[in-house]
Amino acid sequence: MPLNIPNIREQFPILESVIYGKPLAYFDNAATMHKPRRVVNKVTEVYEKLNSNIHRGVHYLSNQATTAYEEARQKVQLFINATHSHEVIFTSGATGAINLLANSFGESYMKPGDEIIISTMEHHSNIVPWQMMCKRRKAVLKVIPINKNGELILEEFDKLLSPKTKLVAVSYVSNALGTINPIAELTQKAHANGSLIMVDAAQAVQHIKVDVQALDLDFMVFSGHKIYGPTGTGVLYGKEKLLNEMEPWQGGGEMIKTVTFEETTYNELPFKFEAGTPNIAGCIGLGEAIDFVSELGLENIQSYEDELLDYATKEFLKIPGMRIIGTADNKASVISFLVNNIHPFDMGTMLDKMGLAVRTGHHCAQPIMDFFGIPGTLRASFAVYNTKDEIDRLVQGISKVTQMFG
Ligand code: PLP
Repeated sequence: MPLNIPNIREQFPILESVIYGKPLAYFDNAATMHKPRRVVNKVTEVYEKLNSNIHRGVHYLSNQATTAYEEARQKVQLFINATHSHEVIFTSGATGAINLLANSFGESYMKPGDEIIISTMEHHSNIVPWQMMCKRRKAVLKVIPINKNGELILEEFDKLLSPKTKLVAVSYVSNALGTINPIAELTQKAHANGSLIMVDAAQAVQHIKVDVQALDLDFMVFSGHKIYGPTGTGVLYGKEKLLNEMEPWQGGGEMIKTVTFEETTYNELPFKFEAGTPNIAGCIGLGEAIDFVSELGLENIQSYEDELLDYATKEFLKIPGMRIIGTADNKASVISFLVNNIHPFDMGTMLDKMGLAVRTGHHCAQPIMDFFGIPGTLRASFAVYNTKDEIDRLVQGISKVTQMFG
């Protein structure tokens, strides 16, 4: 079903911003997305009408806040099609979720010499926590290479799998290249090898349906702020059995059943992994963001964003000297690019003066930049509120800067 884009845009007050006298055209959605008014209002409403700590109170407001927080968890459960709502652990973001997993999984399952496989195209937050864990547990980190289009080399993945592979941790969509990885195939191969899989869906859930049961994922993470929700929110999904087996990472209030100085027993799921007071208003706001996405329909969002990606790719390639980094067959709405030898920072700064917000740099994916032998790229990433008119402005802006650099 075609989406009513002008109507959608009206729901995002920030899109009315004027930057250096020019209307804002925001193409930094892979870094963070804007929030529709209903999400902002929901967070405000929590603080104005519900504010109270959750789970521990007998009083009215505490019960109301607890209900709203747990309803948000159920919304996430339905959105990712988890079997149980207690398989959804609220975290501070994808980074928080991966650190939780790297610590708990490492403590619970990794022995010296065990292996974990990641890929060349991971965001630093799906590299560094595993490196740290490998150091602690004397485990080995292996890396799936990519080809020049920015796709995983699957034959090399096959060779890396071994009886020692405990976990495969890969991104669904690369934030720096836009590549959509063949998660079903990777999962099937990992499982056939007796390994578990964790999918970093930080750049996926806002564009494509991620059904954890259909894909048979063991773990999955994402960030709330990249799917129209508040910052400081995120999710770790894990299969019930695995989460039950795993040691908690952080200790504190709420994650315990009983505490004595001799011994502590842990609470049941999901509370075992949610020590301390969580981001109550943020998580409720994330539930509202999920309603926003679900009401538009992810399939509708995806087909509109695909249209934007195709259009932008075609128009970009008309610019002399344009080089797109990341030319996989299967891509989400992210274009990383360079023009001639113009430094991305220079181009990005000049585009900014035209009201065009793009990201420049290594995008927290330095191994990708090393692979392509470049210091960084410019990146335009699209959300459901972007338009072809905005893309035309961006293409004109890039052309103008290119001409200025001769
Ligand atoms: N994974 C991917 C693929 C990302 O693109 C990002 C952020 O850009 C992250 C993880 C980390 O997300 P956050 O900073 O919200 O924790």
